[in-house]
Amino acid sequence: MSTTDFKVPVCIGSFIDGQPHLGTGTRLPILNPATDHTVSEFSEAQADEVGLAVTGSRRAFEQGPWPRMSVDERQAVLRSIHQVLLQNAPELAYLECLNTGIVMREIEQRHLRRAALNFSFFADYIGQSSDAVYRQTQGYTTTVMREPVGVAALIAPWNAPLALSSMQIASSIAFGNTCVVKPSEQSPLAVARMIELLCEAGLPPGVVNLVNGRGPVTGQALVTHPEINRVSFTGGTETGRHIMASAAQNLVPCTLELGGKSANIIFASADLDRALDGALLGIFSNNGQQCLAGSRILVERCILDDFMARFVARARALRLGDPMADCTELGPLASRAQMNRVLQFAQQAPAEGCTLLAGGQPAGGFGSGYYVQPTAVLAPDNRCSVARQEIFGPFATLLSFDTEDEALAIANDSEFGLVSYVWSDHLPTVTLMTEGLRTGVVWVNTPMMRELRAPFGGFKNSGVGRQSGTACETFFTEEKAITVPTRAHPLRRLGV
Ligand code: NDP
Repeated sequence: MSTTDFKVPVCIGSFIDGQPHLGTGTRLPILNPATDHTVSEFSEAQADEVGLAVTGSRRAFEQGPWPRMSVDERQAVLRSIHQVLLQNAPELAYLECLNTGIVMREIEQRHLRRAALNFSFFADYIGQSSDAVYRQTQGYTTTVMREPVGVAALIAPWNAPLALSSMQIASSIAFGNTCVVKPSEQSPLAVARMIELLCEAGLPPGVVNLVNGRGPVTGQALVTHPEINRVSFTGGTETGRHIMASAAQNLVPCTLELGGKSANIIFASADLDRALDGALLGIFSNNGQQCLAGSRILVERCILDDFMARFVARARALRLGDPMADCTELGPLASRAQMNRVLQFAQQAPAEGCTLLAGGQPAGGFGSGYYVQPTAVLAPDNRCSVARQEIFGPFATLLSFDTEDEALAIANDSEFGLVSYVWSDHLPTVTLMTEGLRTGVVWVNTPMMRELRAPFGGFKNSGVGRQSGTACETFFTEEKAITVPTRAHPLRRLGV
């Protein structure tokens, strides 16, 4: 099928109770970052429209079949969604690529497989989870059941819209909840189509509703709506702080999956060819825009010169281009603002003593597209802005260290603590590092391996809460303890 077979909607609005809903809100453009051209537009949901979506989700929760279905029935729908997403992968990939500039090959091979897997993973999970029973107190049996919490607000970012929003959706609805999704204003196109497909796959109307609009308008109205029971947010740390404070007014629990400035630590004892491949993938895949990017590359001093030369040569050789093209390795950044932000870091780095090793300029030959050259700097120490702030682009900061303790100290000297990477074939080094690193995930001799069964989330300013089967079950369900006596115990009689 050719990409021209896919229809790009003229305007997208909300999706409420299984129906498109085009409100009267401000119309805002949806851009193609590879060209800066407008490819569609969306209608921004104001507070009243957000209210309709939340009410629809509440109705589906209170009166609809979804929370009352047997686990078998819910599993069947989740597995059907898995199939339908894969069947429609070419269309979803096209829309995602058009609107985000993420390289098509990565969307097809990583994002869409992951989006489909999220639903089948939670289908499997709910088929195996069990209630707890306590019988230690003689004469009583206490069963702890888990019930869905109600309506979840899901706020999704722009750097991997399908993969990340599908995780939020699957992990909330699998346990019988309903939800309202708000994608980023920058990247609503593919998520809107995915949510239509959920209904086509058999999800009852109203279980997943969609609103579109800017964070401070639509997102804020959603997070503060009194009928919301949980907020799941993926995005920047500052926004996360604000969202948590807003949700706290209604005593609504949040999970926050935030940013990172992850250390990718390369020892001389590593397989250096693999470490080099891993370091390049860690910072340049997904156009450098990923929370788990290995953006601080710490290299043992005795191999620094050699590693740096090879890293820079490969970075310069990266194939920039049309994200739809098969040969492209690096596409445009998601927005002009993000491009300018990345370039500003490159411009300021020398004043802080950094050596620019590669890139640092807009990439020529792409018209008005938001392309940045693959960039690498050598920082004198970990105090520079490029070693401390999340840049969120194809921008590697290299640092050197002499000892394991120094590597640990540099890696942990960060406001963030999402993931870290260790490259070494020396077991005592690996053990020391994995025990000492203050991050939610440590990857050893592998660039990224997301094990959905294991918790994912950050220490420190990288987040609150975790994502995994059990972590999501805990977050998206309420516990209820039911105590039943096993015989008629004598009761103290009052007023006799
Ligand atoms: P945001 O954190 O603003 O975007 C994430 C989501 O939050 C978007 O849907 C956004 O909507 C929404 N949002 C913004 N403000 C509010 C609000 N007041 N109430 C409810 N929702 C809101 O990302 P930025 O564009 O500001 O990115 C800044 C930095 O965050 C990046 O440079 C990067 O460092 C980091 N980031 C990290 C991500 C991750 O995966 N951990 C993902 C994205 C960004 P809208 O976009 O429509 O305004």
